[in-house]
Amino acid sequence: MTPFTYVRVSDAADAMRLEGAARYLGGGTNLIDLMREGLETPAALVDVTGLNDAIEETEGGGLRIGAGVRNSAMAEHPLVRTRYPLVSRAIVAGASAQIRNMATLGGNLMQRTRCTYFYDTVGSRCNKRVPGEGCDAQGGFNRIHAILGASAACVATHPSDLCVALTALDAVVHVEGAAGARTIPIGEFHLLPGDTPDRETALAPGELIVAVELPALPIAMHARYRKVRDRASYAFALLSVAAALRVEDGLVAEVRLALGGVAHRPWRAHAAEAALIGQPAGETSFLAAAEAELAAAVPLRDNGFKIELARRTIAAVLGELSETGA
Ligand SMILES: Cc1cc2nc3c(=O)[nH]c(=O)nc-3n(C[C@H](O)[C@H](O)[C@H](O)COP(=O)(O)OP(=O)(O)OC[C@H]3O[C@@H](n4cnc5c(N)ncnc54)[C@H](O)[C@@H]3O)c2cc1C
Repeated sequence: MTPFTYVRVSDAADAMRLEGAARYLGGGTNLIDLMREGLETPAALVDVTGLNDAIEETEGGGLRIGAGVRNSAMAEHPLVRTRYPLVSRAIVAGASAQIRNMATLGGNLMQRTRCTYFYDTVGSRCNKRVPGEGCDAQGGFNRIHAILGASAACVATHPSDLCVALTALDAVVHVEGAAGARTIPIGEFHLLPGDTPDRETALAPGELIVAVELPALPIAMHARYRKVRDRASYAFALLSVAAALRVEDGLVAEVRLALGGVAHRPWRAHAAEAALIGQPAGETSFLAAAEAELAAAVPLRDNGFKIELARRTIAAVLGELSETGA
């Protein structure tokens, strides 16, 4: 590893003063791996785990979760479990207990793709790693890659489970930087690759994530997270579905749907949601809604199976939700 310095800060202003060539350090479960692989070579690590580690109710009836809250503490918190069970389930579907005990909310939002070509620093070309170099995933083994929103420059997917749940629930990311404090809706936080896949989030250089706010959302209590993966545990999603549903008089009155493992960012299924509102809650409309969303899917050589997998998983999850009442 390239030598680096380490400092632990106790307030956000100190953290931002120290940035520059430095990187913020959360639990280190992704960043330290990236440093070992030579993908990140920061001159300094600024440990921000002592900051922003509270979970508080907001005046509007939502929750504000500090970026330094550990994933396991977030999943277990009574207010998260009762009001946003989707969030708890998505966290618990990810990584292992040990990793969740270390990993923070801020770090989870900022974790990098698991594209194998991105990690293969000696044998593969990757535009995310070296802009303009080319993308060997396009013509390579691309079973885990994107089917939606990809570009000629990049077909990598976003790996987070938690961010899929946050996307379905319209979470808002609070950040602070040299230009002051601002908020970013989660749907705008992670970027599509376009011609600049090396730019993965809307954060400006040096900006610090301080919290994520979940809006008051009664529908969030009737929700499911389903993750499809190669092993029953300790594996990233091939595909995941976060869904919340409210049915009135047999018709879909409200629905939230987001997909993981299909795109460069957690994918809010707006087309499916629009197709469902006012429709009878049943398999026919659930499949039609999934097809409306997946009409834009473009499979690569090895991942066409994700389209059918997404179609069936969306319908199955919505089916379970409609059977368990609204
Ligand atoms: C073996 C393994 C399996 C895993 N499986 C899954 C899985 O199935 N699902 C899943 O969702 N995740 C999985 N993960 C990923 C894990 O969830 C992430 O590594 C973790 O969430 C990152 O959080 P961290 O606090 O450790 O971040 P760090 O590694 O400390 O940091 C990651 C990035 O976030 C930046 N950062 C940290 N805090 C802030 C902040 N407050 N503001 C701005 N930037 C910040 C860092 O500078 C760095 O760029 C897995 C990880 C491993 C190692």
